[in-house]
Amino acid sequence: MKTIIRRMEKENMEEIAGEAAEIWKAGGLVAFPTETVYGLGGNGLDSQASRKIYAAKGRPSDNPLILHIADTAQVEMLAQGISATGKQLMEKFWPGPLTLIFPKAPCVPYETTGGLDTVAIRMPSHPAARALLQASGLPIAAPSANVSGRPSPTLASHVIEDMDGKIEMIVDGGAVGIGVESTIVDLTGTVPTILRPGYITEEMLREAVGYVDVDPAVLGPVGEHVKPKAPGMKYRHYAPKAPMVLVEGGREEEAACIIQLAAQAKAQGKKVGIIASQENQNKYVDGIVKVIGSRKDPEAVAHNLYRILREFDEEQVDQIYAESFDEHDLGRAIMNRMKKAAGQQVVAAGRKNKI
Ligand code: AMP
Ligand code: MG
Repeated sequence: MKTIIRRMEKENMEEIAGEAAEIWKAGGLVAFPTETVYGLGGNGLDSQASRKIYAAKGRPSDNPLILHIADTAQVEMLAQGISATGKQLMEKFWPGPLTLIFPKAPCVPYETTGGLDTVAIRMPSHPAARALLQASGLPIAAPSANVSGRPSPTLASHVIEDMDGKIEMIVDGGAVGIGVESTIVDLTGTVPTILRPGYITEEMLREAVGYVDVDPAVLGPVGEHVKPKAPGMKYRHYAPKAPMVLVEGGREEEAACIIQLAAQAKAQGKKVGIIASQENQNKYVDGIVKVIGSRKDPEAVAHNLYRILREFDEEQVDQIYAESFDEHDLGRAIMNRMKKAAGQQVVAAGRKNKI
């Protein structure tokens, strides 16, 4: 398949939105930017389109898709039993990086929900995403536009790497803003529960609706005793090709530990990549050092994470060592993604570690 790649500017937004809407109505797939990461969109009410999304991503079909809408009125059509809390959250955080889970309405096919009786819905705020969604009038199922298991795309070039030749169109809207996926909140139980941390933090949700719970799978490794409620959280996700080790300690301890680990790996003939904070960047002597942002600037860290992981793939490093970041607020989403990228390989700096 020849993939049409279109660079979106203010002047041609309507024209491109019209083209994308036609492709969606005909059952095809279009990748487009959102404020979180690039999405791979298809008509969420068309089971064939959902099947195509799973095929293009190589994604297991029990991993449900999020429906993207342009208008809150669409929620009534797609979900049932919308609680007062649900309405409050939509009012407060939409359009924006918050996905809400409701019991599904019969019109949503099980192919879209990965066989579940619940449906995930979000209204993105990115102007390009809004233009496309509005032009189609459809709920668009759109997981991140990466091949399953690879880091999510934050640039159109990442989408081209993974999807060129597999889908009808890619809309290039430049770099996304946030860089990590939406916060997911389950509203089907008695207490709203965070299933995946994101830009909308626990604190922000608590302020809006009082009490919120956090799914145990968000806080630690998924093992036999902790089954994540968001099926996607159980898969090895967001992963670079090279093994990655996350080093936790303090600013100085982490640098000292990584210096030592990098020297050992180099001595074994390995090409090493280091994910460094701005504060520590000049300490490293071995390896390819990439600065992810200041320890005081989690927004920059979130924005740069997936791009850096993909750059290390391109540069074919054999081993990645990464510093850690504060787990508060947006830091929780950052560390959740970094731990997944590291396949939960975390070492405590300051102790004698053998890897
Ligand atoms: P992605 O769009 O690639 O960021 O992945 C969508 C995420 O939303 C996956 O991790 C899914 O597990 C989660 N998700 C979507 N629908 C539901 C649902 N009905 N219940 C729980 N989690 C969901
Ligand atoms: Mg994804």
